Amino acid sequence: MISLPIVFHPLYDLKMSQASRFPIQKYSQLKKKLEIDGILKKRNLFVPLPLSLSIISRTHDPLYVNRVHSCSLSEMEKRKIGLPEIDRFCERAFVSAGGTLLAAKLALNFGFAANVAGGSHHAARSGGSGFCIFNDVAIAVNYLLESGKVKNVIILDLDVHQGDGTATIFEMDPRVVTVSIHCEKNFPVRKAKSDLDIDLKKGVTDTEYLYFLENTLKKINTVPADLVVYNAGVDIHENDSLGYLKVSSSGIVLREEKVVEFCRSRGVPLVITLGGGYQKSIANLVALHSIIFKVMVNCWE
Ligand SMILES: [Zn+2]
Repeated sequence: MISLPIVFHPLYDLKMSQASRFPIQKYSQLKKKLEIDGILKKRNLFVPLPLSLSIISRTHDPLYVNRVHSCSLSEMEKRKIGLPEIDRFCERAFVSAGGTLLAAKLALNFGFAANVAGGSHHAARSGGSGFCIFNDVAIAVNYLLESGKVKNVIILDLDVHQGDGTATIFEMDPRVVTVSIHCEKNFPVRKAKSDLDIDLKKGVTDTEYLYFLENTLKKINTVPADLVVYNAGVDIHENDSLGYLKVSSSGIVLREEKVVEFCRSRGVPLVITLGGGYQKSIANLVALHSIIFKVMVNCWE
């Protein structure tokens, strides 16, 4: 049996002292659940290194990267990112981006892999936004393109919020096709232009959601890709506090099955980043995030 390579670093969960809207505990709780479910064992656990400033500066403004590194972001930059105890998150951002790059490399080797973090899709070239400091996906994709490991990439962003940072970073790059299915009346207020945007109305339920997803996958079925990077945000769920959609848990199972089948049938490597998910009950949230891991393991067996 192929074991799904899973990337995790202890810094993913910062053990915050103060309560926050950002559910930082979900990362270590998810790791625990994957271990309990028999999906994560010692042999398929990979620990990332923090990325260097120079690798990150290929995607982000080097001055911004330096400010993150030296914990000297301006008050305005901090407000735009909106994370508590931001200096600790700054250190974590280097590791989280390292995790997505490691997972992407593993996916190219093994056909699939997942980072138990990442999907910081609001971060743009010049700075962070909406809980996102570095755009880990863009950093990994740019690295793989520049090192010749891939020629074409599809970024499939199914987080409920538009992947605006990713869209702007790759706006002029024909090698990368950005796809975002999101709730139109949600953050960010001003949407960017992905190669393919599907704006869903508030309150969309399973049937409608899956219809739009299927249609989208059909549209991109002939798009050349050596890698699919998937933002598997579960904030499309009906109980999400920031989502505004009404997709059920079984709807998320079907979503993950369609995405995984899309890649498996095309023979394209798939790398997962966690993306958003905001619920009071961390246990419920973690159960939703764990679905993609289960689906991947089952489909690739
Ligand atoms: Zn989101």
